Amino acid sequence: MRFKKLTLALCLSGITFWPLSAKGETEEKEVVKKGKYTLTFVNQNPNLNEEVKAGLIKTFFKVYPKMVKDFNKEAITEVTVTIDTAYNGVAYAHNGKITIASQWLDKKPEDLDVITHEGMHLVQAYPGGSGPGWLTEGIADYVRYVYGVDNEGAGWSLPDFDPQHHYKNSYRITARFLLWINQRFDKDFVQRMDEKMRKKEYDESLWSLYTGKTLEELWDQYSIDPKVKI
Ligand SMILES: [Zn+2]
Repeated sequence: MRFKKLTLALCLSGITFWPLSAKGETEEKEVVKKGKYTLTFVNQNPNLNEEVKAGLIKTFFKVYPKMVKDFNKEAITEVTVTIDTAYNGVAYAHNGKITIASQWLDKKPEDLDVITHEGMHLVQAYPGGSGPGWLTEGIADYVRYVYGVDNEGAGWSLPDFDPQHHYKNSYRITARFLLWINQRFDKDFVQRMDEKMRKKEYDESLWSLYTGKTLEELWDQYSIDPKVKI
């Protein structure tokens, strides 16, 4: 049996740490408030680079309020970010919680905009069955591309079109397609699709409603002339 021990909270220059023993390990918890937003940063990795931690917090406060304003003003304002030492993937987000693999940050400490992509998932807050997963991920990467603070520093960019690509490939491949639609047809296209997904009103007919072309026709045109302004 494992016990969770709570020790006294220490206040250090306005920042609160609760060293606690969970799973026999120490977690550090820091609460940062700015305006109407509260970020609780839970760190399970005692060796986490302080610059990476500070960079993630700074990135969150720089991009999250903008994404809320532009996409979903009802989005959650209290967010918990956990740097997880047991998780083997990259990151995931749900219900006000973002989890980032500590191993990923060890490997890619420049990848601060992982919090931009995951933060967008909280802003999306799509209900179950709202629409295709590739579109959810494509929108999150489109937003990372547009709002990200240092994609270049992370070596992250939208890949050039390749005939092997398909819009269902998700993530950056779909993101580039969405950028192309925004540039060629409707600068609010991503915003409109995002809202429809959240309202559970997504339907394939929306592509032609907003662009005059079906999804397949758009992809065909994109494969012939995939240029975007980067
Ligand atoms: Zn995602």
